[in-house]
Amino acid sequence: MKQYYLQTKAKVLEELKTGSGGLSSQQAKDNLTKYGKNALIEGKKKTTLQVFLEQFKDLMVIILIIAAVISAFTGELESTLVIIAVLILNAILGTVQHIKAEKSLESLKSLSSPSAKVLRDGKKIEIDSKDVVPGDIMLLEAGDMVTADGRILENFSLQVNESSLTGESTNIDKADVEFDHEMPLGDRINMVYSSSLVTYGRANVVVTATGMNTEIGKIASLMNETKERRTPLQISLDKFSSKLATAILIICAIVLGLQIWRGQPIMDALLFAVALAVAAIPEALSSIVTIVQAMGTQKMAKENAIIKNLAAVESLGSVSVICSDKTGTLTQNKMSVQDIYIGGKTLKPNQLDLDNQLHRYLLYDAVLNNDSSLVDGKGIGDPTEYALLEMYRQVPGIDLGDKGLGLTEEDLRGLLTRKQEVPFDSDRKLMSTKHLIHTVPTIFVKGAVDVLLDRCVNIRLDDEVRPITEEDKKQILAQNQHFSENGLRVLTFAYKESDEDLTPETENGFTFIGLVSEMDPPREESIAAVARAKKAGIRTVMITGDHKVTAVAIAKKIGIFNDGDLAVTGLELDKMSDEELEQKIEKISVYARVSPENKIRIVNAWQKKDHIVSMTGDGVNDAPALKKADIGVAMGITGTEVSKDAASMILADDNFATIIKAVANGRTVFENIKNAIMYLLSGNLSAIITVLFASIGGFSVPFIAVQLLFINLVTDSLPALAIGVEPGAPDVLDRKPRDPKVGILDKSLVTKVGLQGLIIAVGVITAFMIGRQTSPAVACTMAFSTLTFARLLHGFNCRSQHSIFKIGFKNNWYSLAAFAVGTLLLALILFVPALHGLFAVTPLTGNQLFWIIGLAVMPTVLIQIVKVVNENK
Ligand code: ADP
Ligand code: MG
Repeated sequence: MKQYYLQTKAKVLEELKTGSGGLSSQQAKDNLTKYGKNALIEGKKKTTLQVFLEQFKDLMVIILIIAAVISAFTGELESTLVIIAVLILNAILGTVQHIKAEKSLESLKSLSSPSAKVLRDGKKIEIDSKDVVPGDIMLLEAGDMVTADGRILENFSLQVNESSLTGESTNIDKADVEFDHEMPLGDRINMVYSSSLVTYGRANVVVTATGMNTEIGKIASLMNETKERRTPLQISLDKFSSKLATAILIICAIVLGLQIWRGQPIMDALLFAVALAVAAIPEALSSIVTIVQAMGTQKMAKENAIIKNLAAVESLGSVSVICSDKTGTLTQNKMSVQDIYIGGKTLKPNQLDLDNQLHRYLLYDAVLNNDSSLVDGKGIGDPTEYALLEMYRQVPGIDLGDKGLGLTEEDLRGLLTRKQEVPFDSDRKLMSTKHLIHTVPTIFVKGAVDVLLDRCVNIRLDDEVRPITEEDKKQILAQNQHFSENGLRVLTFAYKESDEDLTPETENGFTFIGLVSEMDPPREESIAAVARAKKAGIRTVMITGDHKVTAVAIAKKIGIFNDGDLAVTGLELDKMSDEELEQKIEKISVYARVSPENKIRIVNAWQKKDHIVSMTGDGVNDAPALKKADIGVAMGITGTEVSKDAASMILADDNFATIIKAVANGRTVFENIKNAIMYLLSGNLSAIITVLFASIGGFSVPFIAVQLLFINLVTDSLPALAIGVEPGAPDVLDRKPRDPKVGILDKSLVTKVGLQGLIIAVGVITAFMIGRQTSPAVACTMAFSTLTFARLLHGFNCRSQHSIFKIGFKNNWYSLAAFAVGTLLLALILFVPALHGLFAVTPLTGNQLFWIIGLAVMPTVLIQIVKVVNENK
């Protein structure tokens, strides 16, 4: 392994056969084949066999194994074989599902995988981090995730956080220095390492190692990254199953005791116990929940909301406050320069004059103090800055380019290169750069009016520079107010001629040049989305770095700011005590001029009031607030890798409306899971009641294990899945958010399961008793058929709380298909004599069939009547 940090830059470049202009695309291709993809092969994964064996650890499965053994003793060898077959099949299904779920999580992960900026063929391009190769020149700036190891070539106050590698949580200043002796990883400040986060500044580095050859790659195999994380829902279901298992064991013991006490043969008593155990175990429950969740996230990904952890799907359903960034999320982030206030006049961009020295300064400032650029006809970088380039192009004479009159922005940047800079950050709200203008060292600065105006000592007019007066400032502020009231974003431009070292401390003593106002229209969908959120009981709050007046003007347009609401600036927020903030929080709908630290307080205050908070963010400093929020939302397009890393959901289109769609989807997924659980449990309960009834009544056993397994695993799974894909009801967003403290198995669910289970049981018991008039075998067949058919029909009841007349079949053909397939399978068992032995059924008379159908339809008719009555109340 080469120690790149001990070599000179030139040597490193030479060894990696690259230069400061980067690799050619051909070289990059060759290196990719040579070194492979830049990806970590994750820590030890469980082997398929391990996953398979784990399926047998479940307490429920153990109960089933006991049941199989008992069946063998009672002479029901067929049942034993079927139970074993079912167990194996179940384990195979579980394994397949596990692997599938992992795959789908991985594909979601790759959707949110970081990108990297590199130079290829001398041009800056953005590529998937997997395609970065050794020798690439990688451009890093605040907010990026470092995706490969590299040696620093050019450094502009780069600071990184290497905690994922070294555990050290403070930010480390990097430098372009040379070392002549070995030192530990944490001290090699001329290197950057994969998986660290850029928190400040920027740098150009040459990539020295990728993938498993990186420092993090070397330890990746030690970390077992694939620890399974279970969501709150899964955990609560796990708890429920273990409680259920204990309950089953106890009831089985009681039934067994009862039968023996009655003096019945021990074998018969055991049959009852087995039937009860198999009836009660909801074999399909956990897999169905997983499948429904996975399908839900897939659907959300298609609608631009990428879920990073499954738990987010559940919390989404109970979100009650969304704190959203304004720029780019609520608005289009397509800035365009409107009016320019310069030399005491307001001008349009095309009224600027290249011959006017004052105007020239403004244009230099606009182009040179600017990191955006035009690549293949597309503006990249900060839209606020890109708008300035578009302004520059509108100035008469510029477009003539090399014809002598004007210079293109590239010409200008090439000619007046940047010597030093302090990059923009949302806390300082300033950006400055230093250039040599006709041999005079000059610092250009741009930033927010309230920050920069106080740092100006002079003002430049058309033909003079003089000290700035209070009167000047008043005029400038009045102009600023006027722009802001129209919802425009305002930037101040200033400069100074100075050769001092450029740092945040020396950003003062400037000469005022002018104000540039930019407009960022609201997204068309925002207004509707805010209104929908309101109907859904969700409060939308706007957070912005912009001026308060600007922010309120736009918030009013979008419907966020209503009469009686408050708007608060970051400064005012700082002055408020926690109690005061908590008291006011519900009234504040706009936060202006906020710093990222303010966001944490806002989240905190809402959470104290028992709200489930979603917070959006895009910058490096937003990460803590995103983590603190219940649902941290990062921006897919403009967001930094750091923010994406901290978020639990990523918006592929940066659009506020997508959050609302995701909330609707989250609510639907939760609702569907709840309905599927209701369906499965009520069906199981009906079987339990029937078995208990027969046991207490001293009758023969109503079902054998094979029959119940057939219902639980085959005919029940299909409708349950169909319930899982039920599209959201049109009114999902008309309800208030779900109370997160109420678990999924709440009172209303338990009541419904109880009642529905009871009604179905009544039908099944009646069929059983009618069958008994002929023989125990017929009774068993009739009970089994009625139960199966009634549960298949019950699938329609559980699709929604509305009646079938209201929801129809059109938007869920799966439910009909599930019913049809289930009915067909039942018919096969009843009418194909070859299957009679296996399922212990007897041929039925027409009269008996008639009873079966009638008794199976009865519960569904009753349930639907109740729904219709409720709808018309
Ligand atoms: P937002 O979150 O609304 O985008 P920012 O923190 O980016 O807010 O911007 C806050 C203020 O800083 C803006 O109103 C503007 O005056 C100023 N500003 C924004 N971008 C830049 C930039 N690239 N250079 C200098 N000043 C900027
Ligand atoms: Mg911004």
